[in-house]
Amino acid sequence: MQPFLTDRWGNPSSTYAFGSQLKAPLEQARGQVAALIGASVREIVFTGSATESNNTAIHAALSADPAKRHIVTSAVEHSAVLNHTVFLEKLGYRITRLPVDRDGLLSLADLAAATTPDTAVVSLMWANNETGVLFPVPEIADLCRERGIRFHCDAVQAVGKLPIDLKRVPIDYLSLSAHKLGGPKGVGALFVRKAAPFAPYLHGGHQERGRRGGTENVAGIVGLGCAAELAGRELPTYAATVQPLRDRLESELLARLPAAERNGHATQRLPNTTNLTFPGIESEALLLLLDQAGICASAGSACLADSDEPSHVVRAMKPASAASRQMVRFSLGRETTPAEIDAAVSAGVTTAGRLQRS
Ligand SMILES: *Cc1c(COP(=O)(O)O)cnc(C)c1O
Repeated sequence: MQPFLTDRWGNPSSTYAFGSQLKAPLEQARGQVAALIGASVREIVFTGSATESNNTAIHAALSADPAKRHIVTSAVEHSAVLNHTVFLEKLGYRITRLPVDRDGLLSLADLAAATTPDTAVVSLMWANNETGVLFPVPEIADLCRERGIRFHCDAVQAVGKLPIDLKRVPIDYLSLSAHKLGGPKGVGALFVRKAAPFAPYLHGGHQERGRRGGTENVAGIVGLGCAAELAGRELPTYAATVQPLRDRLESELLARLPAAERNGHATQRLPNTTNLTFPGIESEALLLLLDQAGICASAGSACLADSDEPSHVVRAMKPASAASRQMVRFSLGRETTPAEIDAAVSAGVTTAGRLQRS
C-alpha cells in the first residue's frame, strides 16, 4: 500500500500517465479479489465498506423490480443489513426477519414459507459475526434461484475463512470487507453476478464502470487485493491452524467454569469464533477485567459496542434467558499462539471467579 500513500498519489481517472497508470494496480486487486471467491473480474465492484456493499446490493435488487415490496432477512444479521431494513420498513417495505433456533441455525423450511411472489430480495449472511454460526448458503441460493428471487449474501465473516466458489453457488450479490480478512479499514467490495440487475447506490462519476461514483481509494484497494491473495494462499491450512486453539480455549473455559455455556452450534460455525455465556456475570464487567488483563474480547459486534443493547444475536437464539447480557465473544486470528490461549483461559477463569464472588 505504501507507494500509493506516498509517491504514487495520482487519480486513476486522470488522462495523464501519473494518474492513469494507477488503473493497472486497481485491476490487479480486482483480479485478486475475484480469484478468492471464484468470480470474474467484471463482477467485482470496490466500495468504501461492507456496510456500503450491503446497502448497495439491497438497493440494486429493489430498484430492479420496484413493484415488489417484500424483503426476507434474518433476526441475527449485522447492523449493516438490519438497520437498512428498518429504514426501508419506514418507506413502506414489508420485512420478514427469520428466526434462528437455540443453536443459531436457520430453517430452510421457514425461508421457503416466508417468500412470496412479492419478495424482491432475500438477504442472509454466510457466517454470523458474533457466534460464527453458518447459514446453509448454497441451499438458500438454490431456493432463491428456483423461485426467481434475488439473493444477497453478507459474506464478510466467511470470505478468507471458508472456501467460496461463486461459480458453483448461485448468489446474485455478495459483500466482503478488507479489514475482516487482514486488509485495511475503509474498503470493501461487492460481487455482482453478471446476470444480476444493478443500480448504483452512489451516483456520481464513471468510476467502477459507472457502478460506484467516487474517486477510488487506491491504497486501500491495493491492500484489499493483497489481503485477498494472502487469504487465498492460507485458506487450505486456515481451519487446521486455528480451530484446535479455538477448541482448546472453549473446552478449557467450559470445563473450569461449569456454569458457562456455548452460544452457537458446535460444528456449523467458523473455526475461529467462540461465544460463551457466563451466567450471573454481566458482559460489561467481564470485558473490563479481561481488557485489563490484555485480552481483547467483545460482547457482540464492535459496531454496536457503544450501545447498551444486549446482543440481538444471542437474544434471538435464547430469548427466555439472560444469555444475551452475559456473553463474551472471543475470535482468534491465524497468528494467535498457544501461549495466548493459555493466558486467555487463565484470565477468563480468574476474572469470572472474582466476579462470581463479588
Ligand atoms: C464487519 C461486518 C460488516 C461491516 O463491514 P464494514 O466494512 O466495517 O462496514 C458487515 N457484516 C458483517 C457480518 C460484519 O462482520
